[in-house]
Amino acid sequence: MRCVIDPCHLTNRTNTTSLGIVLRYPQLSHRNYTSHAPFTLFPSPFPREIYQECLDLQPIINTLLLKIANDVDFNEDSLSSIAQVDEFTRNLLKINKIIQKEGVTQPLIACICRTDYMLDKQQSDIKLSLRARQVEINAIASGMAGLSTGVHSLHQHILSNYSVNKPSASASYPENQSLDLVAQGLIDAYELYNKPDCYILCIREEVALNFADQLAVEQRVRAKRPDIKTIRRSFKKVSETTKLGPNKQLLIDDTKEVAIVYFRYGYDPSNYDFLTAWDTRLLLERSRAIKCPSINFHLSGLKKYQQILNKPEYLERFLSTRDSERLAKTFCEFWPLDPETTAGQEGFRVGTSTSRKLVLKPQREGGGHNLYGKDVKPFLTEFANTDQLSQYILMGYIDSPKEKNWILLPSDDELSDSIRIEQNDQLVSELGIYGSIVADGLNIQHNRSAGYLVRSKKHGIEEGGVAAGFAGISSLVLIDDELDNLSRYFDIDN
Ligand code: ADP
Ligand code: MG
Repeated sequence: MRCVIDPCHLTNRTNTTSLGIVLRYPQLSHRNYTSHAPFTLFPSPFPREIYQECLDLQPIINTLLLKIANDVDFNEDSLSSIAQVDEFTRNLLKINKIIQKEGVTQPLIACICRTDYMLDKQQSDIKLSLRARQVEINAIASGMAGLSTGVHSLHQHILSNYSVNKPSASASYPENQSLDLVAQGLIDAYELYNKPDCYILCIREEVALNFADQLAVEQRVRAKRPDIKTIRRSFKKVSETTKLGPNKQLLIDDTKEVAIVYFRYGYDPSNYDFLTAWDTRLLLERSRAIKCPSINFHLSGLKKYQQILNKPEYLERFLSTRDSERLAKTFCEFWPLDPETTAGQEGFRVGTSTSRKLVLKPQREGGGHNLYGKDVKPFLTEFANTDQLSQYILMGYIDSPKEKNWILLPSDDELSDSIRIEQNDQLVSELGIYGSIVADGLNIQHNRSAGYLVRSKKHGIEEGGVAAGFAGISSLVLIDDELDNLSRYFDIDN
């Protein structure tokens, strides 16, 4: 099927200086060729009240991450068994400890994070309903704000130019200010650095697939504040071009002072594959620049914390009873797997003996590391009673309702300008809510909810990667959540 909609008037294989809803794809024949990112044809339905609650929870989650980041003992207790078996977590913790021991040079810390949710079907005696379940919290490299704002505009264009009716009189399309608010988060931190003529340094991978999204943030910062200078540079190049000045200022190219280090990379072991990588991360952490996020903030997003904090009584170490209870309503069931603890042994038993669908997760980001459903039991059995299991958590499976929509993928044909419409119209969506926080130690200076991202993937596919072609970026249409209404939008029967 051919599609008549040009995603934001983009053509395939544009030069990388163009901006739009685009990605680099490794399979294209030149690294500077791009194609549009997968997107859905229409906005994705989402219950209005649940969306509002997710937005309202985000400043609470930002605060939670900040408090975890600052709780040295809690970090140590929670992550030490993982560090024994996982080199990556060990290295992150090691740097964190060095910084704590030396004393932090820069007490200001910033984070652009994103909490991801999926809708879960709830069956009670009297009715079926939906609730949001937290999938994970991303505390580093929380991307796609630029592309999600772009898809919101694209959908508005489709709806108004192609005579698409609103699904119901009360349905509405919420604004998505994620790009603006993510940029504002960086500006907030920059202002607190309080020195003119400094730079925001965005650390990216060598060949950034998601370059247009990073560029969008950079351009939005400059549009809002033309006096702020920005640089995007690969981690490896950063390691070759940065040093500390006499007052631990972070200097790039010898003379340019960096106010903000904005990490869009550095979240996966493979990102540290060159000799000086860990030394560079340490140098950045030691510097006077404000890190977005600092290493302790990065650690606070590890999945292990979801398992540890999945009960209000544990959350109350950090949050009020009321906030803890609200947040815990979005939690899934979790089990640890540490073989030497009773709770871990129970987790092993659940993972190997029930017929429930479960997800096994290590302390990793960026897709491709989890095991789902029937793959969990053989893995656990293979590593039974070994320390290796300490680095994983077991999570209940979120049973999302299917919705009708279409994913528009880039054409496989390099010579064609057409886009391919994925015929599969049974999708499940994941809502991401961005958060932005800047704090001086525990003293919060800015704390906000910062817009949304929706990714819709084909039902039955477990991983949700946009670049991998499994999911399309979508936007929201908010609907009222009475069951009769919901069943018009979702297939909730099975
Ligand atoms: P990553 O850090 O690799 O993004 P996630 O925890 O976000 O890891 O999991 C990747 C994808 O797997 C999610 O985007 C979601 O589509 C799916 N997923 C994760 N956890 C669950 C779950 N408990 N139930 C159903 N699907 C899940
Ligand atoms: Mg994820």
